[in-house]
Amino acid sequence: MNQMNVNIGGKADHSYEIYIGEEILDRVGMILARDGRAQRYVIVTDTRIDALHGERVQAALEKMDLRVDRITVPPGEEAKGIETVLAVTERLTALGADRQTVLIALGGGVVGDLTGFAASIYLRGIPVIQLPTTLLAQVDSSIGGKTGVDTAAGKNLLGTFNQPKGVFIDIAFLKTLPDEMFKSGLAEVIKYGIIESPGLLDDLEGAVASGGLRETAFLERIIAAACRIKKDIVELDERDRGLRRILNFGHTVGHAVEAASGYALSHGESVAIGMVAAARLSGRLHGLPVEDVARIEALIRSVGLPDRIPAEMDLEEILSRLSLDKKKEGGTIHFVMIRKLGTPFVNGGIPEEVLRDTLKGLKP
Ligand code: NAD
Ligand code: ZN
Repeated sequence: MNQMNVNIGGKADHSYEIYIGEEILDRVGMILARDGRAQRYVIVTDTRIDALHGERVQAALEKMDLRVDRITVPPGEEAKGIETVLAVTERLTALGADRQTVLIALGGGVVGDLTGFAASIYLRGIPVIQLPTTLLAQVDSSIGGKTGVDTAAGKNLLGTFNQPKGVFIDIAFLKTLPDEMFKSGLAEVIKYGIIESPGLLDDLEGAVASGGLRETAFLERIIAAACRIKKDIVELDERDRGLRRILNFGHTVGHAVEAASGYALSHGESVAIGMVAAARLSGRLHGLPVEDVARIEALIRSVGLPDRIPAEMDLEEILSRLSLDKKKEGGTIHFVMIRKLGTPFVNGGIPEEVLRDTLKGLKP
């Protein structure tokens, strides 16, 4: 089992462990029992994950004599709203959950974000532990303490910074994860490789070549590498004031494409297209070698993610979404670029003609 410590701002009460391994539920129970932190635990999960794993997780913790209840919410992004948070808090009240209660977010990014949010407001804040079950949650959303829910006006418009008290990553959960969801998480892993660790790209290329993308040893390696990169960045910039922006590589165009597709494209698919756009812009404006641009595109294609903007999608629609971003960010769109693999920086001003032309080049 891999273990790493996250320490935000050098404060002891903002320090927690990330554990990564396969079939680690028994150990999770033991660690929680040993720490003796809480009187009771409430697992929050969605109905789909609950059907697959809920009982097993609860039983593993109960085996250690922990008191555990389970609350379910509907699956999917549609459930990531304030009504669901209120429903969770009402259930917590009905269960008599008090300040000695710890929430366990068992699920993907949706469950993680809304449970983290509920934990940060229930009784003015109770602890939360993350037990991520999607690749995206294991490499991204469970680490870093951003919580949130969507409103009618947009995604993640309500939320808090609330670091978990621990993150337990059990790779065994990924066995039931559908391929589409798995690929979506891979997009973020490719992102980490591009911005921080070309070695991770070598590893991904090797696994593609050997057909071992879902093998345990490989997964444990790339998840640990990704967690380390994310935690290092979050430790330096918890509140997203600077460095943390580099995690948005591929996400500026990615978010615009995702919205322009009416969310028919998944987040990972959209980010994949956005990464190709960012790589090409980096080549054009900042000297990223053509062979690196080609390497990024080839890797994205080889894992089955899209590297082109869908034929039916209107470029002007994407561009107008990008200028909405511009208003949000106070006049400039923050594009993350790379000069070479592993060297990201934020570029505030990309001329619109260059952007339009680059996007045009991504039409099949
Ligand atoms: P998700 O949470 O919606 O999960 C996707 C689907 O997979 C759900 O239907 C779920 O029931 C199912 N599922 C989950 N685990 C499974 C498993 N092991 N086996 C079978 N099915 C399983 O999607 P996601 O991609 O994990 O998360 C997306 C969310 O994460 C978005 O809301 C996004 O805003 C958020 N996010 C947050 C951060 C952050 O820093 N907080 C970062 C990135 C993304
Ligand atoms: Zn993302």
